[in-house]
Amino acid sequence: MRELIRKDFPNLDRTFDGKPLVYLDNAATSQRPKKVVDATIKYYTHMNANVHRGVYQLSQEATDAFEAVRGKVARWIGAPSEREVVFTKGTTESINLIASTYGEANISEGDVIAVTRMEHHANFVPWQQLAKRKKARFEIIELTNDWRLDSKEIDRVLALKPKILALTMLSNVTGVSNPISSLSSRFKMVGTTIVVDAAQGIAHGEVTIDRLGPVDFLVFSAHKVCGPTGVGILWGRETLLEKMPPYQFGGNMISHVGDFDSEWNDLPHKFEAGTPDIAGVIGLGAAIDYLETLGRVRIEEFEKKLTHYVLHELNKIDGIRLLGPTDPHHRAPIFSVAVDGVHAHDLATFFDMRGISVRAGHHCCHPLMMKLALPATCRASFSFYNTTEEADLFLNALRDAPRFFARSGKRPPQGGTP
Ligand SMILES: *Cc1c(COP(=O)(O)O)cnc(C)c1O
Repeated sequence: MRELIRKDFPNLDRTFDGKPLVYLDNAATSQRPKKVVDATIKYYTHMNANVHRGVYQLSQEATDAFEAVRGKVARWIGAPSEREVVFTKGTTESINLIASTYGEANISEGDVIAVTRMEHHANFVPWQQLAKRKKARFEIIELTNDWRLDSKEIDRVLALKPKILALTMLSNVTGVSNPISSLSSRFKMVGTTIVVDAAQGIAHGEVTIDRLGPVDFLVFSAHKVCGPTGVGILWGRETLLEKMPPYQFGGNMISHVGDFDSEWNDLPHKFEAGTPDIAGVIGLGAAIDYLETLGRVRIEEFEKKLTHYVLHELNKIDGIRLLGPTDPHHRAPIFSVAVDGVHAHDLATFFDMRGISVRAGHHCCHPLMMKLALPATCRASFSFYNTTEEADLFLNALRDAPRFFARSGKRPPQGGTP
């Protein structure tokens, strides 16, 4: 079964010095199945024309293929209307768009903007800077010792009646999954606009808007769900999008241009200035088809099993620290680890010597890393195409690491190959 799935991803066949690639950096970007790559090539080879502009057949075809993906995305996430689905460059651009249009128009001096301690920089810095520009208050919901949102902190911030709450579904560092629907219901009662970063959430489970409670915006990137880089999604409630000013000005987002003023195109085109990544969007459509064929529920079940297994084994390894919850419930197979006395980069190099690709660094989460008092962690993030055998290779490396570093008196050779 897993072997069949892996055949869809030619890159997983790579070897390094005879050792097969063990790709465990899926939280940074997923691999892409051949079908996705083929779809982008097909566009460039047989359908290439700009969208929304030509009356000729080729351009119509490209436009139809492009717009069909909007409908596909809307159905995939259960959006009430495809007018609510905006194509962007990625999660980062989607959040910047919301902060600099909705945020700019609705935040005033003294208002409260809230985020959590576990946000990716993309869902932290745009809000921090908006707060700074507007002289608004910037509040951070702190975490418990087991890496979850602290309920006392939630109560504290709720009492401040924030105008905006921006939070992630799932942490890209600790793997913690947040209870979005109960949080959004509570914050909606005090009038908060809720922005959900689903960049990781949608990579590890089914995401439908009605099951998230009364959220207002949801964002994610194609490249973390087997789609191409350079494409992101912004879903927003139509009533809010209608009132928001445009993000960028130019072609496609306009309906009439006069000498001294202009009128904006209808949703969602009002937020899509210029030529989009047409091939990328078409590739995202192929990625959604691919994931739907596999079945989101099956993917979730497999990842759950893998999470249980890795956690169970990690618990038995001495000399390492897991920077994330040990409870397998409400968490994804993203494991940040530290080996006592070993720098995360050295650890990642040690893994690379065995063909295992893990990420060392701050994972674009400086605010969390400051709290951990760690400059970096080493993160292994699994996807549905990873196998239990790969998990064992990761775990074995982790078992060997403390001894290796104790014996060698520290550093593996730089560059990664022995
Ligand atoms: C990757 C990631 C982002 C940023 O996504 P980009 O594709 O780089 O824009 C934001 N939030 C989380 C939780 C992520 O994992």
